Amino acid sequence: MTQMRIDIVSLFPEMFAGPLGCSIIGRAREAGLVDLHVANPRDFTVDKHHIVDDYPFGGGSGMVMKPDPFFACVESLVDSIATDKRRVILMSPVAPRFCQADAERLSQYEHLILLCGHYEGVDERVREHLCDEALSIGDYVLTGGELPAMIVADTVVRLLPGALGAEDGAAKDSYSSGLLEYPQYTRPRQYRQWEVPAVLLSGNHAEIDRWRRQQSLRRTWQLRPDLLDAAALSPADLKYLATLKNRPDECEK
Ligand code: SAM
Repeated sequence: MTQMRIDIVSLFPEMFAGPLGCSIIGRAREAGLVDLHVANPRDFTVDKHHIVDDYPFGGGSGMVMKPDPFFACVESLVDSIATDKRRVILMSPVAPRFCQADAERLSQYEHLILLCGHYEGVDERVREHLCDEALSIGDYVLTGGELPAMIVADTVVRLLPGALGAEDGAAKDSYSSGLLEYPQYTRPRQYRQWEVPAVLLSGNHAEIDRWRRQQSLRRTWQLRPDLLDAAALSPADLKYLATLKNRPDECEK
């Protein structure tokens, strides 16, 4: 098994200790599935005041992160051999929206380098000449790339073989399967006046699988119908969806 390495380049390394130090990611690090480091581009400045940002050419408000600390930092992390096993990624709101398929794609690399911007953003030459791609985590603007980098790292690491308890745990998750997941219940069987659906207590696994599949289809149809276009659907799935379309009033909210 090849260990994955993830380097995050951030002006605020202290932000990562909690989120990437506990739970599944923390355990994956302890188990040696992933080697995760945070580097500070400020450490790669050569001027007396360790300046990482400057005024935008052309005017305008705010500051732009300079290219040279990013280049020096990334070049210190990689050997000179170009490889298709490594991906350098800029966190940016000006980018395609990150999704589960990206997490699955990135989990196949041996080395990810995630660059976090701040202020008004990063000198465009970083995106053009240092990065293989840029990713946005959603249609909103955050203060910095740290939270996006944590999200990308978390989604990728939980897909690494051995990171989750059950080997197929991630494959059945929402989005990986192409659909949203069915509702989950645990003890007690009755909480206040609310009962767990009887089928889940029946012991009939074929019926449970059927119920779960239909719940996944129902929720996806209600909440994210766009996913159905790309999902792998059986004739039985299509038949069930047709019944939902004919009786929308029966669908839960
Ligand atoms: N002026 C930029 C714009 O309007 O597109 C926003 C810069 S933002 C305040 C600073 C940094 O936060 C960005 O360089 C990027 O690294 C990160 N960032 C903010 N929103 C993001 C998002 N939705 N996805 C990924 N990174 C984001």
